[in-house]
Amino acid sequence: MKDEILRVDFLNVGQGDSVLITAPNLNQILVDTSKDQIVTRSLSEVLPYYDKELDAVLLTHADLDHIGGTPALVGKYDVKNVIYQFERDESALTEHIFDISDEHEINQIELSAGSTIILDDLRGVRLEVLWPFEDNLIDDKNEMSIVLRVEYGNTSFLLTGDIGKEVEQDLIEIYSPNKIETDVLKLGHHGSKTSTDPDFLATVSPDYVVVSAGEGNKFGHPHQEVLDTLEAFYETPQSEYLLQTKDGHVSFLSDGIEVWPAL
Ligand SMILES: [Zn+2]
Repeated sequence: MKDEILRVDFLNVGQGDSVLITAPNLNQILVDTSKDQIVTRSLSEVLPYYDKELDAVLLTHADLDHIGGTPALVGKYDVKNVIYQFERDESALTEHIFDISDEHEINQIELSAGSTIILDDLRGVRLEVLWPFEDNLIDDKNEMSIVLRVEYGNTSFLLTGDIGKEVEQDLIEIYSPNKIETDVLKLGHHGSKTSTDPDFLATVSPDYVVVSAGEGNKFGHPHQEVLDTLEAFYETPQSEYLLQTKDGHVSFLSDGIEVWPAL
């Protein structure tokens, strides 16, 4: 039974994102690296001490709170592949990340919508890139976040980086509802009011939503407007659907049939 479990850990990294996905075959991909070295401490809390290898690190977009921990991570973990969708010279930080990736001989893969990452071939655990499209790249880092659908059997997770309501609408228009419907949604942009349109939430219709934001963060994430949207949609107590990384790592397990929070 244990061999057939997919695990997804939304790490408690303060204000930022970092999500560890571990397939039943133990292949691992880390989606975003938080703002700094806090990511290595958080990882050491969910990984066995001897596990210092990551098959891939996917960077959703070039903002500090998503890629800032990459140099520290690469220093402590043996990262095989780095997956991204931004220019090398976007900032001093992105240049630094490419430089150290070169130094550590990490394979660099640029991906856009239409690509699929196979994490566990035997069990069919796949990560589909739903956004952005290569022929439609614009100069807005948040809106160009890589949107990932993690699929295992009948279960799925939707990781939306920092996309806003406009891209949420694009996703609804481009994809059939069953492609974006999901069990667990990471709320866009840390629960900012620029994301999570009621239409999008209704289409995605998740059983659980995760807010990855720091305790007492200066942005006031998650925003009251988003909490109101959630409340109107669920009509059940918040504790039944909302999980926040500020309370600690938020972990889920899936056996391909259903998803449940890990305690
Ligand atoms: Zn962010």
